[in-house]
Amino acid sequence: MKKAVILDRDGTIIIDKIYLNDPSQVEYCPRVFEALQRLRDHGFIFAIATNQSGLAKRIVDIRNMDLIHERIANDFAKYGVSFVGFYYAPFSVESTHLRRKPNPGMLLDASRDHGISLKHSWMIGDRMTDVEAGHRAGCRSILLSGVETPQLSPFSPPEIFVNDLYQAALFIEKFQ
Ligand SMILES: [Mg+2]
Repeated sequence: MKKAVILDRDGTIIIDKIYLNDPSQVEYCPRVFEALQRLRDHGFIFAIATNQSGLAKRIVDIRNMDLIHERIANDFAKYGVSFVGFYYAPFSVESTHLRRKPNPGMLLDASRDHGISLKHSWMIGDRMTDVEAGHRAGCRSILLSGVETPQLSPFSPPEIFVNDLYQAALFIEKFQ
């Protein structure tokens, strides 16, 4: 079984531009390439799990979303980092679909598709719904600072709350 780091997309890998629909507008969060290189060197594989309610609202076009993911894959490939999958939940914010975070469906799909041991894996995101999706899947979870704090959430706190993905990578390495 493989160990994985499953990553939220908006606000975690790329700047959250709210319903991003244009690959030319992709802009990366600080130190994301270095962070995933470190985790790769520690034996982790990577998948993205992103809620995309903009698809349900028809603000985001699925062809553009695919191009955005293609661009992200290509940019990380330049650093020797690859993603085994880009999982997305195209449901509205009201949906309680198993694949929409905080539910764990996308993580369970990634585990099944790629032989990932969830209890040896991590979920990282900038919202408590990311943290909760990780916990519901049996992973450990990390919250990145930006939009939410653990204190005001109904969900269980993350294993750690850090500034950015690079800090998260250092924590995971020490945790091993
Ligand atoms: Mg996010």
